[in-house]
Amino acid sequence: MNRPLLITDCDEVLLHMVSHFAEWLDDEHRVRFDLENGSFADALTDAHGEVLPADQVWRLLDQFFREQIHRQTLVPGAVEALGCIGERADIVVLTNLPHEAHGWRVEQLAGHGIRHEVVCNQGGKGDPVQLLWQRHGRPRAVFVDDLPVHHASVAKHAPEVQRLHMIAEPRLARAIPPAEHAHARIDDWAVACDWILARFKEAE
Ligand SMILES: [Mg+2]
Repeated sequence: MNRPLLITDCDEVLLHMVSHFAEWLDDEHRVRFDLENGSFADALTDAHGEVLPADQVWRLLDQFFREQIHRQTLVPGAVEALGCIGERADIVVLTNLPHEAHGWRVEQLAGHGIRHEVVCNQGGKGDPVQLLWQRHGRPRAVFVDDLPVHHASVAKHAPEVQRLHMIAEPRLARAIPPAEHAHARIDDWAVACDWILARFKEAE
């Protein structure tokens, strides 16, 4: 039988991102990012309290990923959980970044002790999850992500894959309810690790 497969997101699952993005926005751009807003669309405001237009938010995000990813820190328990899961499953990091960022992300994760295949994607994660699942021989599989939109996409395109909603940033986690299309919501890696291993065991 094929080894089980874990497909995990990076930002807000393995590495903290928004808290460092918010700090950098405040330090360098006098932009306030209200992490407890719950809606990214109007969470960033300038020094006058005006909501930043979407194109400006995307430009700042792009600049952060190009120049500031050294600021990102490990989510507690992530490395230990991946170590334990990796003993019995294959692991792929599926991250929504342009393909040109692949090398930066691989190097960044390796610097934190995470050395697994990294796949860059843009848009919904349903199709790439379906492709990875097929490529690995349709094994028992678990998908982990902080964004509800990706759980909906995976539920549609790869319904056989178990879906775990995790938001490792506590301020965001408080503001965002469990994703409708996920099987479980767990924000802590120690608990998530047991849940993932239990899903793999069901298939044995
Ligand atoms: Mg994420």
